[in-house]
Amino acid sequence: MSDKIKMYFLGTSSSTPTKNRNLSSLLINYKGNNYLFDCPENVQQQIMKVSESILKIKNIFITHFHGDHFFGLLGLLATMQLNQRTEDLNIFLPFGFSKDIKQYIASSKIIFSFKINLKEVKSSFSYTFDNINISCVKLNHSVLTFGYVFKVLDKIGKFDKKKALSLNIPEGPFFSKLQNGEKIKIGNKFIFPKDVIDYNYKKIGKKICYLTDTFVLNKVPPKVLNADILIHESSFISEHKLRAKETLHSVAQDVSLFAKKADVKKLYLTHISPRYKDVLVIEKEAKKFFKNSFVAKDLDLIEISDY
Ligand SMILES: [Zn+2]
Ligand SMILES: [Zn+2]
Repeated sequence: MSDKIKMYFLGTSSSTPTKNRNLSSLLINYKGNNYLFDCPENVQQQIMKVSESILKIKNIFITHFHGDHFFGLLGLLATMQLNQRTEDLNIFLPFGFSKDIKQYIASSKIIFSFKINLKEVKSSFSYTFDNINISCVKLNHSVLTFGYVFKVLDKIGKFDKKKALSLNIPEGPFFSKLQNGEKIKIGNKFIFPKDVIDYNYKKIGKKICYLTDTFVLNKVPPKVLNADILIHESSFISEHKLRAKETLHSVAQDVSLFAKKADVKKLYLTHISPRYKDVLVIEKEAKKFFKNSFVAKDLDLIEISDY
């Protein structure tokens, strides 16, 4: 049985909102949990518009501390408090910024009834939740910025519970060890994963990369290779490449060439400069180099199955 991964573009603008576009952020809903990537102003209304729950957000991932990526954080936390949240909340953020964010949160003078865990990330960061892994890619921007890779863990095969029980393996940690590819010892006998796992059922979990803000990277990080979905900022088109270079943002042509090099399946462009009234100019430019390019619109939903 496969589950759906739902990705909502809560906003697609850069720097300032426009009449039709909110600032960039992404909400991923998977197995009943909401994962929020960046938290700009007005993020709460956008979450309501896609009928997702604020309280189901257990993990927030901040790419960097430019206002258009985190000015909505305090408001969101305040609403969680008003809703009497009790469950812990993790906020992942670039290395070295915990102190500032602690002060920023403290400035609200709210006494929170839930624990807020600030977790700093760097390039080596890797965090495994139930059956997903989140890792980081260092980006090329004017402040320390990390993109995030959301990867559903691969299934090495189908675990044969009946067979495991017949081999006198007790249910529990031994089962997980075998499922994770480790051998175990029962009495004086070793049992190997191949004894209880049918490798014909191997499944590769989907991979979603969220890379913003950045001047397009020269080299494709191995983690990004073959992503099912690449969401990449494309603030500009080639005509404004100079501006992109100055501000360390990307142009559609470079991003689409990057997507091609990375051999991703689909590219979604976001974080579009408010200067473009018709955002399709971004898509048009990208499609010339990588056919599966799409410009994201606010409240767009992309749905894929996890395996
Ligand atoms: Zn930005
Ligand atoms: Zn920025």
